[in-house]
Formats: sequence, C-alpha cells, structure tokens
Amino acid sequence: MAAMGVSIRQVQKKYASAQHGEVLALSDCSIDIRPNEFFVLVGPSGCGKTTLLNVIAGFDTLTAGTVALGDRLISAPDVRLGPGPDRMVVFQHGGLFPWMTVLENVCYGPVVQGQMGQAEAREKARSMLAMVGLAGIERRYPGEVSSGMRRRVEIMRALIGRPQILLMDEPFRALDAITKAVVQDFLLRLFDTHPHTVFFITHDLIEALFLGDRVGVMTTRPGRVKTVFDVDIPRPRSTRVLASEEFLRLKRDVTDAVHDEAIKAFEAGEREAAR
Ligand code: ADP
Ligand code: MG
Repeated sequence: MAAMGVSIRQVQKKYASAQHGEVLALSDCSIDIRPNEFFVLVGPSGCGKTTLLNVIAGFDTLTAGTVALGDRLISAPDVRLGPGPDRMVVFQHGGLFPWMTVLENVCYGPVVQGQMGQAEAREKARSMLAMVGLAGIERRYPGEVSSGMRRRVEIMRALIGRPQILLMDEPFRALDAITKAVVQDFLLRLFDTHPHTVFFITHDLIEALFLGDRVGVMTTRPGRVKTVFDVDIPRPRSTRVLASEEFLRLKRDVTDAVHDEAIKAFEAGEREAAR
C-alpha cells in the first residue's frame, strides 16, 4: 500500500461515563498529516491524544467531525471502519506473542488477515529483519531478547503488511534512556530508508523534535491542536542535532507551548477536585 495522509477535521469525542457524567475529550480538533510525514503529537496528560489515535486506528468512534485516510473516509459519527492492516499501531507495552519466535511474530498478521500465504510472509519477514540487522534473532523467543530488540521487532511486525500509516502511542515510554536512544536511532534510520506516514504520540519533547517533521501541541481537555511547529532540521539526523541552535530554539518554543497547557490542565484539575 502507498503511504497516505490523514485529514482530521473538526473532530469531537464525548465519552458518556457513569462515574463522571459526560467527558468531552476532543473538541474541534483538526490536523492534516501529510503522506510520508513523521507527525508527532504532544500535550498534557489526559488531553485526548490516545483518544485521537484510537479514532484513527478504528478502535473507537467519534461524536462529530471526520477522519479520512487519503480519499477514504474512515471515521464519522455514522461511519466506522474498524481496525485494519492499512493503519497499524505500536503500543507502549508492546504485544509480541511470547510463545512464538521473533520470525513467527512478524509473519503472523499478514497470514491471519489473508494478505499473504505462510511461505510468502516468512520470506518477507526474513528479508525485513535482515534489512534492519535483526536476522540473528529470528528464531529466538521475545523473552530471550532485550527490550530494545523487542521494540524493533514490533515496529517491523507493524510494517510488514505495508500499512498506509503507522500509529505509535508513547512506544518508548517504558524504556531506559540508553535503550530509548538506540530505538529512536533505529526508527530514524528506518524512516530515512523507507519513508512512511507516522503518527507518533509522546510526552518527551526532545524525542518529539528529534524524530518529527512537525510537532503538534494539543490544548488541555477538550483537546484540539493548538500550534504546529515545523522541525526544520535536515535528515539524516544524529544526536549531534540535539545541540544545534535550531533544535534548542524549537525546544524552548515547544516547551513554552506545552507548559502553558499543562498549567491550565493542572488548574482545571484543581477546580474539578474542589467542586
Ligand atoms: P491522553 O492520551 O492525552 O493522556 P486520553 O485520550 O487517554 O488522554 O484521555 C482523554 C480524556 O478522556 C481523559 O480525561 C480521560 O479520562 C477520558 N477518557 C478516556 N477514555 C475514556 C473512557 N473510555 N470513558 C470515559 N472517559 C475516558
Ligand atoms: Mg495516552
């Protein structure tokens, strides 16, 4: 499948919760993610980032607005496509099957979805693992490889069926700093050699700017995209860019934008707690 952009138009998501009544998670939220763009979304905790990703992935519905992948409408109040191989998700806590080898894990999706036969999927998985230097661990079980290796395998598993967009919800959050740096570098190299559309959520602003072509800052709940920063830092990128003037300037600006929203979220939380 060719990479596609996503247009998110005036999306609203209202949860009906028994405990808290209605929760307006997203309101008037619009973004256009371009084909082959690495788009990163940041914002205070609870602002609706995961909600938006779930709507794009087809795990959840929206209550107003539209989401389209390329020309195809995937979500609207009366349209719900559900999850599909065109929109693959990599989660924070991963999800490799511990009883299958690395190779079997990577093959699994396209085979059960009927996209490929067993032999074709194995061949494809082998070449993908080899391409990213993971051939040596094909026959190992997830429990026998490091957390950083598992993350890389999960990314390859998500990409084997050539999704139109890769959705990542704080995928490196649970990793230690050194492993995280290794996996970020892996993702950058992969993106350089095999561009695809990525929608990446993080609360780590340095990660956001290091990886992204653009970084969108969300407002406190109800979430909408408040400001989008262009990350004009050439690729291929290495950790050296982290000390560049442009990077430090962007870091300051994004930090200010997120900080303002975090304070608002904190104050709103205080008010809710005091009521
Ligand atoms: P983020 O990922 O930015 O931290 P979420 O999208 O997970 O935020 O949540 C946004 C808001 O919606 C939060 O206030 C959260 O409590 C609420 N929320 C999320 N899922 C549900 C649900 N299933 N029912 C009710 N409220 C929910
Ligand atoms: Mg979240």
